[in-house]
Amino acid sequence: MLMKRIIRWFKQFVSGLSGNQYLKYKFKIVKELPQHPEDNVFYIEGDKNKNDFWYGQMKCPCGCNDTLTLNLIDDVKPCWSVHIIDNKISLAPSVWRTKNCKSHFWLREGLIKWV
Ligand SMILES: [Zn+2]
Repeated sequence: MLMKRIIRWFKQFVSGLSGNQYLKYKFKIVKELPQHPEDNVFYIEGDKNKNDFWYGQMKCPCGCNDTLTLNLIDDVKPCWSVHIIDNKISLAPSVWRTKNCKSHFWLREGLIKWV
């Protein structure tokens, strides 16, 4: 009886983490973008000390498994800018894929917000 209750509680806990409306992304500043990016990580290629960022990369949050690469250099279009406040990443403008899954979302303070 108690075991069942624990299992049920655990399932609710897990689904609460993965199935809630906002998906969480952490970020990593790297010298080179990885070949196989991890889930829920936004990679930034650039120089942390100079606050100079070139590319962003993430796996599409919709689950389609595509890797999205975003240009962060402002003299190349289209271009996105990243803001890191309190160790949380925000991206502007929103990401709107024109191919495949056509996902449209914002990354705000480390959370995916669907449009
Ligand atoms: Zn997708």
